[in-house]
Amino acid sequence: MTQVLANAKVTAARLVELYKDLHAHPELSFEEHRTAGIVAGRLKALGLEVSTGVGRTGVVGIARNGEGPTVLLRADMDALPVLEDTGLDYASTARGTDPEGHDVPVMHACGHDVHVVCLLGATEVLLGCREHWSGTLVVVFQPAEEAGSGAKAMIDDGLFDLVPAPTVVLGQHVAPAPAGVVGVHAGDAFAGADSFNVRLFGRGGHGSRPETTIDPVVMAAAAVMRLQTVVSRDTAGTDMAVLTVGQLHAGTKNNIIPDEATLGLTLRTTNTAVRERSVAALRRIISAEAAASGADREPEITLAESFPVLHNDPAATARTVGAFQAAFGEERVMDPGAVTGSEDVGEFSTAAGVPLVYWLLGGADPVAFAAAQSAGTTDSDIPSNHSPHYAPVISPTLEMGVGALSVAALEWFDSGTFVHPAGEAEAEEQAAG
Ligand SMILES: [Zn+2]
Ligand SMILES: [Zn+2]
Repeated sequence: MTQVLANAKVTAARLVELYKDLHAHPELSFEEHRTAGIVAGRLKALGLEVSTGVGRTGVVGIARNGEGPTVLLRADMDALPVLEDTGLDYASTARGTDPEGHDVPVMHACGHDVHVVCLLGATEVLLGCREHWSGTLVVVFQPAEEAGSGAKAMIDDGLFDLVPAPTVVLGQHVAPAPAGVVGVHAGDAFAGADSFNVRLFGRGGHGSRPETTIDPVVMAAAAVMRLQTVVSRDTAGTDMAVLTVGQLHAGTKNNIIPDEATLGLTLRTTNTAVRERSVAALRRIISAEAAASGADREPEITLAESFPVLHNDPAATARTVGAFQAAFGEERVMDPGAVTGSEDVGEFSTAAGVPLVYWLLGGADPVAFAAAQSAGTTDSDIPSNHSPHYAPVISPTLEMGVGALSVAALEWFDSGTFVHPAGEAEAEEQAAG
């Protein structure tokens, strides 16, 4: 075990330059060509069977090492349209084109560069100790997590025809928790997220003669206010739901009543029943507000993006947490509870019909985090993912991320005696006692 963690440390240190390079060259969802090329090159150099272009820009590596379980480790590769403001000397100045054709700044504001490097590192560590485990290692580098469609794109493109059926799916996400710590929550762990685009149809006309029109601005305003009741009146106090209207567009000039208004909204829930009830409520409210305005055309409500609730299999989570605690010590493994962020990694485990264990990897400077925690200012002082200031510390984040993936994979390869040498704990206790 000590050897695995020592190898993780050395490997992570060797990958710092690659991390800075990837951070400085982020790519938007489904545009991860450079990143995918680097990943594929490194996997080939390590001797894996490599497939590229899976789900457009996804990369898959397979290392066959005898009989045994198949462990699938997953990292996502895409970045976000955010203007980096970290002041790091490896900060991004990259630009990209978003799906609507706009020129936008691009930044690894969600830390997927950390995920790529940690998975490359873990692959190296696992191959370096291949005499201690047997089975098949599958590494999946996924595009377009931020769009909620990358995992599905790889599956639809035949991922599970390319790779042997996995025993388990494992992965991690860097988070604004202290570096050196992992956080795992059993059961429903990440919220499901649904993004809806809404078109409300009225009838335009002169601002001086509202009686001749059906005003979509008033319709939209009423809908936005009433949508607040999806959480406050339709959701039980013991359940969790978040509904935010992030976009509202209508009109071109102060004295013109426009023909239509559009809304963009996001709904987060942590269980399927609450999700279905909330979706039904929001459809009902939008449709009823249109009717209340006298609209003669039903609103259009389109589901633009959908992330399922991420469910960590309780038994598989307990097994993985046990391995983490043995490797890192109990004080470095915490339960963060369910989080309102969303992830599409569950698409892989659901499609394969196997358990998922997905954990949070601390990325915040531990000293700054402790100071903010005692001042009660973590929300304002510790930048979270998607912020232009989000900058995980390289050490010990990378080392812990490489170590966590390696430890979890070895646990699932049943290399129990290698991970926890028999009698080691007792021997240490006796020595200490
Ligand atoms: Zn993100
Ligand atoms: Zn992310």
